Amino acid sequence: MSQHIVNVSGGKDSTATYLLALDSGRSFRAVMADTGNEHPDTIEYAARLGERTGGPQVEIYRADFTERMAKKRAFVAAKWPEMDIPAATVERAIAALQPTGIPFLDLCLWKGRFPSRRAQFCTEFLKSDVIGTQVIDPARRAGPVVQWLGVRRAESIARRNSPMWQTVRTPGLHTMRFYRPLIHWSAQNVFSYAAARGLDPNPLYLQGMGRVGCFPCINASKAELRAIATRFPEAFDRIAEWEAICAEASKRGAGTFFAADVTPEGAALAKRISRIEDREARNAASAAAPWPNARKVAEWARTDRGGKQFNWIIDQADDGLSCSSQYGLCE
Ligand code: SF4
Repeated sequence: MSQHIVNVSGGKDSTATYLLALDSGRSFRAVMADTGNEHPDTIEYAARLGERTGGPQVEIYRADFTERMAKKRAFVAAKWPEMDIPAATVERAIAALQPTGIPFLDLCLWKGRFPSRRAQFCTEFLKSDVIGTQVIDPARRAGPVVQWLGVRRAESIARRNSPMWQTVRTPGLHTMRFYRPLIHWSAQNVFSYAAARGLDPNPLYLQGMGRVGCFPCINASKAELRAIATRFPEAFDRIAEWEAICAEASKRGAGTFFAADVTPEGAALAKRISRIEDREARNAASAAAPWPNARKVAEWARTDRGGKQFNWIIDQADDGLSCSSQYGLCE
């Protein structure tokens, strides 16, 4: 008999998927990967889903980079001096490369950089691998698995062709099928379904958030960043702290969470540097460039489109307390 496993994120889609599994009357497990970059409300919401609905307790898993960071320290000690990296930089990096127990931060320390749109390794190391190695693979050694995913085609262009069912066969493991029961649902369907079951959404939606995964996500839009910067400035303070810690562990003593070109100034800087023909000079200019850090991005997010002037009109109308949910939850 298949084992049913529901992936939970604390967001609206995975919550509706959990409720569907519950309504199906099947026995199932619910699992979540905690990246260490979620808002505490999101973790609490997922952790209390079972008690609120009478369903199974959500099992929360985290990545552990302790061993990988120990190997990185040994690598830095042995190899960086051979690359003519100053002894003070090597010592500083080794001192900074200590596990913090925060998966997102430890991943970035180990990798020596923050993830980006082009190198989105966070999803793989903090979510897929965690659930894959700690839950799915052991389950597939015992028998076939059906993984329930809260994916909707209407969510994004990348998901517009997602199938409802998909079968994965791996030598030595039982078959796994992905099941996307919400594939044809709208966001409103999702909220209405939970509401009809008497379940409030994650409170962050009611405070204007369109997405409640990583807080912030490296791919967050300006509107999302603005909502976080306005209502949850402490999230940017945390990212600024992470940037400072990662800078200590990096060769060039710098590290920024957001893509360099997220702000107009950063994009212009990236363009200017890309025009430098000599590779060494280009790398040196890039290493020395004042790329936008979390505090700069927070400032920019609170400006109008051109990024020049603070949007006082919007801020006066919306003092950060009213509901601006993109899904019309304030009815
Ligand atoms: S939500 Fe964003 S930051 Fe978090 S793992 Fe996914 S892509 Fe990375």
